[in-house]
Amino acid sequence: MLKCYDCMEEGKDSEAVAICIVCGKGLCDEHAKRMDLPIWSGINPAPEKVHKKELPRILCNYCVKQILTDAFD
Ligand SMILES: [Zn+2]
Ligand SMILES: [Zn+2]
Repeated sequence: MLKCYDCMEEGKDSEAVAICIVCGKGLCDEHAKRMDLPIWSGINPAPEKVHKKELPRILCNYCVKQILTDAFD
């Protein structure tokens, strides 16, 4: 059973409902960040699927920060 990695770091034990598409970490509902970003090159593990609108883009807090930092640097 996959656990939320961010909760584990806080000493909690939550079941993951999503996986960060960038780093593959398990994430609970609270920690999963849904992002509506344009297609990114190089970081999506399934490039053949990026044009499917319904594909959820779930990221962890850490990767959201990394991407926002990259985008606005
Ligand atoms: Zn969590
Ligand atoms: Zn991540």
